Amino acid sequence: MAKICVENISRLFGEVKALDDVSCTFEDGQLTVLVGPSGCGKSTLLRSIAGLDEPSAGSIYIGEEKVDGAPAWERNLAMVFQSYALYPHMTVYKNIAFPLQAAKTTKSEIKERVHRTAKILQIEELLSRKPRELSGGQMQRVALGRAIVREPAVFLMDEPLSNLDAKLRVTMRAELRHLQQQLGVTTIYVTHDQAEAMTLADKLIVMNAGSIQQVGKPEDIYHFPVNRFVAGFIGSPPMNFIDCRLDMSKSALVGASFEHEIHPRIAKRVASDESDRRILGVRSEDLVVHSSPSPGAIPASVYVMEQLGREMLLNATVGEAIVRAFTQADSKLESKQQVWLTFEEESLHVFDAETEETLYSGNQAAV
Ligand code: ATP
Repeated sequence: MAKICVENISRLFGEVKALDDVSCTFEDGQLTVLVGPSGCGKSTLLRSIAGLDEPSAGSIYIGEEKVDGAPAWERNLAMVFQSYALYPHMTVYKNIAFPLQAAKTTKSEIKERVHRTAKILQIEELLSRKPRELSGGQMQRVALGRAIVREPAVFLMDEPLSNLDAKLRVTMRAELRHLQQQLGVTTIYVTHDQAEAMTLADKLIVMNAGSIQQVGKPEDIYHFPVNRFVAGFIGSPPMNFIDCRLDMSKSALVGASFEHEIHPRIAKRVASDESDRRILGVRSEDLVVHSSPSPGAIPASVYVMEQLGREMLLNATVGEAIVRAFTQADSKLESKQQVWLTFEEESLHVFDAETEETLYSGNQAAV
């Protein structure tokens, strides 16, 4: 097992800065998820660690060793990709055994390790089948088996579940989490799916446009996003954002149709000399929907109701913005009906409208 350190990595593809001075650490034995939208540079970072891509600048350490320039096969890493890349003419046994045969392992050891791996993945009964006789989930397990059998120091996984249907993804992600905990191998997992990232990660690294935005435990990033991008990317539905301005004389956030009083301590904290433009942020689960006005409530007009089974999701307009709030499953709200939204102060987030940095995240004392 090994800890991995990435120091000031940059990668240019012509004009495109795929990675811009990225530094991060992947702890020994932990599962770290690299998450971000398409094109943010996460695969490039993974490929650089794997030795499949050469960074333009910076260094990578695996354990104590600096691996810059070392070929992929010297790095003792196993990769699992979105495509299973199984050999169609070989049985499951031979597919799993392949990396060991390539490494000239003895026949008896290969047999022992393939069976041990198949047992961990619960695919012992599939060993004599060919890939075409397997389901998508089974193929992905065989691909995992081929990585596990090598007993590498590090697993690198690039969207390994994205070819599976939604239901199987959820099952496989729990299995993967269990497997990683069982094996305790340092794992780097790349995904653009924030739900997958939140459920799998010991540690999350949120990326955007070639840079790291925030590193931390999933729950800390969810509650205390460092900027609007992270607040909007992590969590489903994304955090609601409403444009407003800070009125220090009233100690209030003032929008086009509302005046929301805040504690003077918070007002002071989010004040600046440059500008009074702010963005109010609040998550859908923290909003309470009322059918009559109350002081500080934000008036909204019902746009559409989505039935989710256990609850409903109200989509309402506040000026130009669409705001989403969970309501009870039997809510009888009609389109265009006027409603009022309230929330506790501890659920409030305030962002600078220019820099989009977080100025305040409620409940900060908890960190
Ligand atoms: P996705 O989730 O879509 O796979 P990603 O976050 O993994 O995206 P990368 O594949 O790392 O993103 O790409 C980062 C940026 O670098 C993108 O703008 C991409 O177009 C660019 N890029 C990646 N590889 C190359 C290449 N070989 N040549 C030119 N540009 C590239």
